[in-house]
Amino acid sequence: MKVTYFNHSGFLVETENKVLVFDYYSQGKLFDFFDPKSYKGKDIIFFVSHNHSDHFDTRILDWTDEASYVISHDVTLDTAFCGEVLYVKPHETYQFHGLTIETLLSNDEGVAFAVLEDGKAIYHGGDLNWWHWNGESQEFNNEIAKSYQDEILRIKGRKFQVAFIPADLRLQDKYYWATDYFMQEVDADAVFPMHFWGKFEVCRMLKEKPYGDKIIQISKENETFTI
Ligand SMILES: [Zn+2]
Repeated sequence: MKVTYFNHSGFLVETENKVLVFDYYSQGKLFDFFDPKSYKGKDIIFFVSHNHSDHFDTRILDWTDEASYVISHDVTLDTAFCGEVLYVKPHETYQFHGLTIETLLSNDEGVAFAVLEDGKAIYHGGDLNWWHWNGESQEFNNEIAKSYQDEILRIKGRKFQVAFIPADLRLQDKYYWATDYFMQEVDADAVFPMHFWGKFEVCRMLKEKPYGDKIIQISKENETFTI
């Protein structure tokens, strides 16, 4: 399968028959990553993990003729919107266009996705992250730790072919805790760091971890990798 990094937490996964786009984000139309004409004959599905503007770019709603949508329940669409939509809630399993879609509860907003497509398992965390802030109270950070761990333990022992996991350097020396825990309790052949606000060096930093050979080193927008 082919994976393209768009921007922030936005990725495209292309398989033999499908195009799955997660958390498309064009940064206020600064970028124009996606053209459905490039994927004629493939089933195009957009995923939106939650309603924050850096994860839900309303640009995607222009492609109702070519695509369908899997959208977190906290996103409200205009009643006039006529696209094909599956609204999802946390801790559910859905069948949609031949995909099996499981959801986790994000400890920020909305959901994380565990998607099975043609035998391939794909994880996209959305804003589910080990949000340990150095300046926060111990109580806050303990709760965040528990909420992250509880969700990841729901998929403990699984093997994903591709995982998209937040690695946010605003968390300073704790930026890698979410990835660390995921790789300890779950596993993935290829891990794409995300939500790193253009700081591509986080990929190189994660490569120094014990699971570094599985970290994909992204170096620019619109970069494509064959997995
Ligand atoms: Zn976010």
